[in-house]
Amino acid sequence: MATTPRKIKIAPYIYTVQEVPKLPDAGSCETDYETITVSGNQTDTQKADTLLHESLHGVFNQGLGDQLKELDKGLEETLCAFLAPRLLAIIRDNPGLIEFLKEAK
Ligand SMILES: [Zn+2]
Repeated sequence: MATTPRKIKIAPYIYTVQEVPKLPDAGSCETDYETITVSGNQTDTQKADTLLHESLHGVFNQGLGDQLKELDKGLEETLCAFLAPRLLAIIRDNPGLIEFLKEAK
């Protein structure tokens, strides 16, 4: 069992991660409070997807959230739901790429 991270940096902000035993949704991202909440009644694989999904909400809310809402109220959610599992697969399947991305500055 993996340990849920306590902090997620979505530069320049550092989000506090709260794990709550059981939420109605898998997670939430409160950009005003820099807090990501994840429901504890998920497998580690589900939590990983949720944390990445909520992190993407944090990214979109750094200036793109309002534009997405103008296009379509549900577009941000659709993008997070589409991108999170695919980005997670790239991260898991390509450790060499992740090492390169971390070192190439
Ligand atoms: Zn969402």
